[in-house]
Amino acid sequence: METTHRPAPADPGRTAAWSDRLRAAGRRVTRQRLAVLEAVDAHPHSTAEDVAAAVRTALPTITVQSVYVVLSDLTALGMLRKFEPPASPALYETRTDDNHHHAYCVRCGAVTDIDCAVGHAPCLTPVEHHGMHLLSADVVYHGVCADCLAADGARPAAASAG
Ligand SMILES: [Zn+2]
Ligand SMILES: [Zn+2]
Ligand SMILES: [Zn+2]
Repeated sequence: METTHRPAPADPGRTAAWSDRLRAAGRRVTRQRLAVLEAVDAHPHSTAEDVAAAVRTALPTITVQSVYVVLSDLTALGMLRKFEPPASPALYETRTDDNHHHAYCVRCGAVTDIDCAVGHAPCLTPVEHHGMHLLSADVVYHGVCADCLAADGARPAAASAG
């Protein structure tokens, strides 16, 4: 049985859309930039290290440092979103502009996307905005994921009363 995990080939429509956005931002459409976008798209919530490893499989001549530079540039352009979970390295994803939130498991560090009920930023209304034009509100849900809860259920209950 074939067990090699192979990312799906890049959707040509997606690549064309990325190329348009790069040109609109005054960037050249390079194999390096497209390879970074493809790697992040294939594995949402990847660390910079994961992205560098994936990109270097396709383009062995690119340096890890170059991948990091491309990641931060694409993030600044809004083509990638960077999420910094508590106590773990930053994660990148191509799902931008929908103001989705992240749920973080305090036990195992798993990160899950959670759709924003409002769908646009900022989705929280402050009591007072102090004259600022508010752009976004960072919402991170902290919890215990289903896998960790199931592992709890498989164990004798821990004493929690006290
Ligand atoms: Zn967990
Ligand atoms: Zn996400
Ligand atoms: Zn929201």
